[in-house]
Amino acid sequence: MNALFDSHCHLDFDDFKADRSALISAAAAAGVQAIMVPGVSRQHSLTHPPLESSELEFFCSFGLHPYFIQQHQHSDIDWLQQQLLQHPTAAVGETGLDKTCPDYAKQTELLIAQIELACHFKRPLILHHRQSQADLIAILRRYRNRLPDQPGVIHAFSGSYEQAQLWLDLGFMIGVGGLISYVRAQKTRATIARLPLSALLLETDAPDMPLAGFQGQRNQPAQLPLVLAQLAHLTQQPEAVVAAQTTSNAYRLFASRLLLSR
Ligand SMILES: [Zn+2]
Repeated sequence: MNALFDSHCHLDFDDFKADRSALISAAAAAGVQAIMVPGVSRQHSLTHPPLESSELEFFCSFGLHPYFIQQHQHSDIDWLQQQLLQHPTAAVGETGLDKTCPDYAKQTELLIAQIELACHFKRPLILHHRQSQADLIAILRRYRNRLPDQPGVIHAFSGSYEQAQLWLDLGFMIGVGGLISYVRAQKTRATIARLPLSALLLETDAPDMPLAGFQGQRNQPAQLPLVLAQLAHLTQQPEAVVAAQTTSNAYRLFASRLLLSR
């Protein structure tokens, strides 16, 4: 069985309230050995303590997600800074820009404040995008010389090879999830097939982004081997090779900083 790292899974969401421990066991049984659970808001982080399990390793981050833009206060940035001071947090995020969410100007302000924190505390960014990659890249380029050595991941990447290349040029990793299981995602599939394995992370984005054949169902981390199988197929590499490389990429991104601070 391949040892996998789910680099983006909202296992702390209420969608999993009723059966969270069973899903953790199912994920571990499927080979998932680590899960990154990104923070999305102050309120959410305060009401959901970090997850713990003897079966697999959890990594957490703190961030202000554009989905919750109306909840976020500018003072939440001070709160975020406190979390980064006090906790061995693996990343800043989930943050980003989303054209389908309100108040793009406020989203942009909060994003920039979170990039500043990532630069200051040398933590990677977990970025969300929706119709916003050009804006994200333009902003991040201004921080090019200040971003950490491992600047982060563009999660649930979709787009062209040229777009992906812009992320790689900035040193970002590319989050690969259930989207690549859809035949209609031709452009993204063709892009991912051409990217170096050293830049790719596996993710479920559970409870969202169910794979083809599971539409309308709640996604869960035990589905990660199906993402692996799709990526192995696209890149024409053995699953064991893809698993070993993507797992090592995720540890490089999220754990190297923690090891340093131990
Ligand atoms: Zn997310």
